[in-house]
Amino acid sequence: MIVVIKNNQEEKQVNNLIKWIKSLGLAVNVSKGESSTVLGLIGDTTKVDMELIASLDIVETVKRIQEPFKNVNRKFHPQDTVVDINGCKFGGGFFQVIAGPCSVESEEQIIAIAKAVKAAGATVLRGGAFKPRSSPYSFQGMGGSGLELLFKAREVTGMPIITEIVDVRHIDLFKDVDIIQIGARNMQNFELLKELGRIRKPVLLKRGLAATIEEWLMSAEYIMAGGNAEIILCERGIRTYEPFTRNTLDLSAIPVVRELTHLPVIVDPSHASGLSRLVPPLSLASVGVGCDGLIIEVHNDPMHAKSDGAQSLKPEQFADLMGKIRPLMDIVGKHTF
Ligand code: PEP
Ligand code: MN
Repeated sequence: MIVVIKNNQEEKQVNNLIKWIKSLGLAVNVSKGESSTVLGLIGDTTKVDMELIASLDIVETVKRIQEPFKNVNRKFHPQDTVVDINGCKFGGGFFQVIAGPCSVESEEQIIAIAKAVKAAGATVLRGGAFKPRSSPYSFQGMGGSGLELLFKAREVTGMPIITEIVDVRHIDLFKDVDIIQIGARNMQNFELLKELGRIRKPVLLKRGLAATIEEWLMSAEYIMAGGNAEIILCERGIRTYEPFTRNTLDLSAIPVVRELTHLPVIVDPSHASGLSRLVPPLSLASVGVGCDGLIIEVHNDPMHAKSDGAQSLKPEQFADLMGKIRPLMDIVGKHTF
């Protein structure tokens, strides 16, 4: 249930109402926008007398909401959430491009790629240290030493870093990571989601391989219900009957998710397609449908990449793509800073 407060009401009266709602055993999410304050009532609201609340002088409207996700629901929080990583903002018109290799492979590799993607306009560096691979015989990532190399690349370039966590037991290792990625395979690892709800650190939550939009938003709800609202969603393609591409990029999910939630949503055209030549057109289409950023795999030697070479752009291809993204951003009203 949501309660919209009339403009310019006395804080004391609003607080009294909040206190009364809490006394009914409900939690209250308060969202103060520029023109209105919205109270989101969380818990069993079936016995709450809607008419009684609507009759109060300070109340504009009261609505029941059907969706099971509350904290992440745009009805609770009409304005866009802006996730700010040291001045690098996602959402509310801010758009960023995250780029880097699928896996961190060596110091030379990550630093060379970091410098190249930064020069082309990327603002966040990606790189997997712990890799969730379908085969136990595939490269599993450099682990903790890969994280160290990412920290070094951050020191050299000044770019914030994003990397994937695969196990709740690694959480302490990630304390200096700027954005923690939850990969598609862990989207419903609820214990991991709860743990990331407890820490104050931005989280990139990828959509599961076969997850509905509602399931994806419920996973975000786990993190936000724990108290961490710094969540960026990422559409990375879903599994369909079409084998030509690695996954099927669900472009329609972007406007749908922007309607349903206030959280920023970005697109990963690399894992969505699995083919580097499809990354540029899918990136441009994603900007066109209103995403708040992109995460793109870039490798300086894709033929010898330890993972996902086929979908990785070379630095020069990435720079060329960035040149095409910029004019489109103007058209859709997005900006980097
Ligand atoms: C990745 O970003 O390297 C990755 C493994 O992505 P996903 O979880 O989307 O497959
Ligand atoms: Mn990858």
